[in-house]
Amino acid sequence: MQNLIQLLPDAIANQIAAGEVVQRPASVVKELLENAVDAGASRIELILKNAGKTLIQVSDNGCGMSAQDARMCFERHATSKIRTQDDLFNIRTLGFRGEALASVAAVAQVRLRTRQHEEELGTEIQIEASEIKSQSPCTTAPGTVFSVKNLFFNVPARRNFLKSNPVEARHVLNEFIHVALANPGVQMSLNHNDTQVYDLPDSSLETRIVDLLGNDLKGKLKYVEEATGYVKISGYIGDPAIYRKSRGEQFFFINNRFIRSNYLHHAVAAAYQEFIPGDSHPFYCIFLEIDPVHVDINIHPTKTEVKFDDERTLYVLLQSIVKRGLGETHRAPEFDFTDSDLKQTIYQSEPESGSGLTVGSFSRSRKPDVPGGMNWDILYGKEESSVRDHPREKSSAGPRHSGLFDSATSSRPPLAEDAVIAQFMLSWILVQREDQLYLIDQNLAHQRILYEKFIRAGNENRLPCQQLLFPQTMEFSPADFLAIQEAEPVLSQMGFELKEFGRDTLIFYGMPAGISPGKLKEIVDQVLSDIRQVGATRVAERMQESVAKAVAYRSAVTSSQKLSMIEMKNIASDLFRCEVPGFSPSGKPTFRVITSIELEEYFR
Ligand code: ADP
Ligand code: MG
Repeated sequence: MQNLIQLLPDAIANQIAAGEVVQRPASVVKELLENAVDAGASRIELILKNAGKTLIQVSDNGCGMSAQDARMCFERHATSKIRTQDDLFNIRTLGFRGEALASVAAVAQVRLRTRQHEEELGTEIQIEASEIKSQSPCTTAPGTVFSVKNLFFNVPARRNFLKSNPVEARHVLNEFIHVALANPGVQMSLNHNDTQVYDLPDSSLETRIVDLLGNDLKGKLKYVEEATGYVKISGYIGDPAIYRKSRGEQFFFINNRFIRSNYLHHAVAAAYQEFIPGDSHPFYCIFLEIDPVHVDINIHPTKTEVKFDDERTLYVLLQSIVKRGLGETHRAPEFDFTDSDLKQTIYQSEPESGSGLTVGSFSRSRKPDVPGGMNWDILYGKEESSVRDHPREKSSAGPRHSGLFDSATSSRPPLAEDAVIAQFMLSWILVQREDQLYLIDQNLAHQRILYEKFIRAGNENRLPCQQLLFPQTMEFSPADFLAIQEAEPVLSQMGFELKEFGRDTLIFYGMPAGISPGKLKEIVDQVLSDIRQVGATRVAERMQESVAKAVAYRSAVTSSQKLSMIEMKNIASDLFRCEVPGFSPSGKPTFRVITSIELEEYFR
């Protein structure tokens, strides 16, 4: 009988493995940069030709390798970073599979020059398609230089598969940025086709971010930090004023390793939701330090996707840290009335005869026209007294649309009695305060006020439900049906009213108030997909936010609506009592400030 099975020759096995690890020049860059970091380098240089297709060279001043290690490092499963199985679950260094160099050497022409600091001579090795071409002692600076030439020279199919130089260069740049952000203390340079793209000194993380990603971030980054037993979170979040239209400048690092996580991104995005327009993306660069036993980094060959054993906790923490970070800087100086009697009158006032409405009683006179018995008093009526009794927070950070994180620090006297000057074009309220003129958009400001009232009310109560005139039945896949059943308590909290109606079918009697009944199906689908992504509790919060948004949008005073002086004063003072006075719930600025200095400058 003839035996047919044989072990693959190493060169072929390496080439197969390379298919996973080395997809493009950027993959090589990533592995080499990470190895240099792991080697303890304080300076790393990256040189590229043709987006790395012709040459990728990484030089570092790290620990270097002995002659034997230099030879060994190209063997598959050769690593200095894991020795026992325990190590595997305790990974702190970046590389750990001992696969990268073997893979790279299988699909390129590689030259390695390396020298340990205490040695006088170094080692040079040339290897091509896994075959050692030469090995000899050499003189070289302490540290390591890897030159990778003609990537995929022996795998034409893969070489042809590479994208244009600009596209590949972009991928390389991203890898460079990730490593540079994670290691601000390491000097790093990038040279492409003889042009110096970056020459980064060792610096603070904040400076590194600005150096790497652009001057418009300068002064617009807010440091956030929080530690629990499970995780330590720290990093910078961007001023909402500098949001981007495309996703990309968003970075998570777990134990200093860049990762992608839609789940975590969702948490941050949710915190930003009310500060920036829906189709734009905030900047953030957030580091999570977490005991490696809680993380499975090995699930993806290139190790950018990870799994945590307690995702929920992370989600909640992350969202609240970012929210707080944004909220702190948004808090405005409070508009206050010197005359407490006047204050009383305003909050107790009923609509003035003939002149429309008072903020405190909007609810009763401006109920959105929704069928069914919802308790609007929860939202507005009872709120009046709590607003009046609300402890006044004193804060000195001045709201500015363009510079949220500027800290304008002067504790200002309260809003004067005659602060409200006029209504302009029936749309804007002019308010004078010291040497500043506030132009408040009455519609957007009122949206913000109502939104926050609604959120506060919803935190304590079930969200208002609107009864459907015609109950709707919906059929689900068995999996979705289960998900909905499980989420039923949360759904009801959110204002849905539903019952089972035969196998895999539900009948909806009510849905959250403030949303058009025609959108029920759409919303249920959205809720389902959100539940799958982030779990029911989170969805409830988001739902609350979007209902609050919708209600605020529909109930706020409109533009081109005549307001009385008292109404305007109420809006101004309520607005600045908000958590986030500077923005409407959908992220539009609520007011603009003009200072007397600006005016003087203009006229001189
Ligand atoms: P891994 O990083 O997963 O260990 P690699 O194939 O990337 O696997 O590298 C193999 C080994 O080669 C590393 O464990 C390390 O000991 C050594 N090595 C690689 N690059 C360098 C470097 N720039 N400086 C010093 N040692 C290095
Ligand atoms: Mg490595």
